[in-house]
Amino acid sequence: MTASAAGALAQQGPRAPLPPAREGRSGGTGSTSYQMEVTVERPVTGKPYQGKVLAAIQPHCDDIAIFAGGTVLKLIDEGYTGYLITLSDDSMAGAGSSYGEIVWKNEKDTLEVAKRLGCQDALFLNYPNHNFDAWPTVEIRARLIFLFRLLRVDTVLTYDPSALYEENPDHYVAAKAVESACWMAGSQWDYPEHFRAGLKPHAVTRKYYFARGPQLVNRVVDISKYMDQKVWANLANVTQGPAGNRGAALRERLAREGKRLALLGDDNDTANRQYTKYFALSRDRARGQAYGVEFAEYFHYIGPDDSLEEEYIQKYSQPL
Ligand SMILES: [Zn+2]
Repeated sequence: MTASAAGALAQQGPRAPLPPAREGRSGGTGSTSYQMEVTVERPVTGKPYQGKVLAAIQPHCDDIAIFAGGTVLKLIDEGYTGYLITLSDDSMAGAGSSYGEIVWKNEKDTLEVAKRLGCQDALFLNYPNHNFDAWPTVEIRARLIFLFRLLRVDTVLTYDPSALYEENPDHYVAAKAVESACWMAGSQWDYPEHFRAGLKPHAVTRKYYFARGPQLVNRVVDISKYMDQKVWANLANVTQGPAGNRGAALRERLAREGKRLALLGDDNDTANRQYTKYFALSRDRARGQAYGVEFAEYFHYIGPDDSLEEEYIQKYSQPL
């Protein structure tokens, strides 16, 4: 180094470290590694999220309750206003005597799930179950952009658009539509007719993505405090899903075989609750124990885009 170069460097004051690469997303600011730093999100006191809005977005009536029900309950308890948005007509899954009856029963269940999760409202987009991949994603995205602007959604919870080994097209098509709608809703050029109707650009800045396959998990939410409420929400899905009346059915089957499980208690209500907590949602216990809490949900979390830049400027900027 020449003497003049050393002098120029000295004038810059203390050297700031280079900004860390952000591995949570692509976009030119990192994403060079699969080594994710995991944050355990714990319960907080008070209502720090008062005024914030979340949308829990699911293709089918049981998705949110199974994979993110505890986190939805937690965020609403901490101040969020919540909406449950269901994208399919749920016509292809569950018990019923006909196509029409299955749709009707699943719709009723979903309304009850929304209520038990503490959501303000439940909205239905009614796309054909199992066939989202035959539908233009751009149309699903456009409807979501409208809802994000209308409801002023800050945070979404939905399937992970990376969708490794996901076999249900509804899950990955929905995830892709949500992912693109989140940033496009903030654009002043997309769907300008919305602004004539009084809406404003409004980007979704926080995303909690869950998955059925392998995932880049960087957020573990401690839902221990909300586990019994999560069980209660899952019990509302009686037409389809892993909870419903399965505990009672198992208890009755065992009785016919002359057996009983102490875990399932002495009545059908207890059997349903216990079955759901210890069998249907057993992954929550395994995931919690891996991080030293009783029950947890896993996510790939993406936070606000500009936080790193602002944080760096505040810490290291110097007067001219
Ligand atoms: Zn599903």
